[in-house]
Amino acid sequence: MLFENTIVGPIHSRRLGSSLGVNLLPLKHKHCSYDCIYCECGWNKESERQPMQYSTPDEIASQLEQRLQALVASGAVVDSFTFAGNGEPTLYPHYPEVVDVVIAMRDKYYPSAKTTLLTNATQLFRPEIFNAVHKLDNPVLKLDCGTPRMRQLINRNNDLGCSWEQLIDGLVAMGSDGIIQTLLFDGTCDGEIISNIIDSEFIPYIDLLKRIKPKYVMLYALDRATPEKSLRKLTVDELEQYSQRIKKEGIETKVYG
Ligand code: SF4
Repeated sequence: MLFENTIVGPIHSRRLGSSLGVNLLPLKHKHCSYDCIYCECGWNKESERQPMQYSTPDEIASQLEQRLQALVASGAVVDSFTFAGNGEPTLYPHYPEVVDVVIAMRDKYYPSAKTTLLTNATQLFRPEIFNAVHKLDNPVLKLDCGTPRMRQLINRNNDLGCSWEQLIDGLVAMGSDGIIQTLLFDGTCDGEIISNIIDSEFIPYIDLLKRIKPKYVMLYALDRATPEKSLRKLTVDELEQYSQRIKKEGIETKVYG
């Protein structure tokens, strides 16, 4: 499922309330430094690596302001300005600039709303991206496993991404200013077992959380249809069991079944 517009919603989100989406990425296909086996946008295609046209920050500011004026006039509630969409938002070439635009619009139209980013964290190693992300209220940072091997099986980092060490360094540097999000599941892909709930993954994952010391951890299960059909959705009870193992280490969690 792809977002067909740059400004999306607001839509109701279990995690964020009334969320106004800002999709900085192309509208016709995904653009991401990962190619997660569960990605709801579908898997990367060769054609997606061709040169791309992006909206400029001025065009985004104009679209956002028009929408906000209409929302304020209608009395709509906005709880979160949320960077999300057809891939990894921080790959947008003018990301730091557009963060400042969105914060200014939030301050002008919905000053009590939060600014949120859903990111795979692969660009945090770039200082200009780290500094821009650090300005947001809710940087929600993907970490799906405890080892680089499983990261490659689940997330399939590509040449737009970063090394495992760079990823972990970025997450540790964000520390308690960041929220970790983890999608728990198990299954197979191309005959290989892929799971982040087996002890050989979950124990090193908890060790990483102890190093990162995030604000809290969001645990969630598969929601919509995924490109790989053999993945199993965990029950809420199962999510709660894994949540308890993290909480025992003094790390707060929230479960979204
Ligand atoms: S990081 Fe998000 S957009 Fe990118 S492949 Fe994974 S699920 Fe899809």
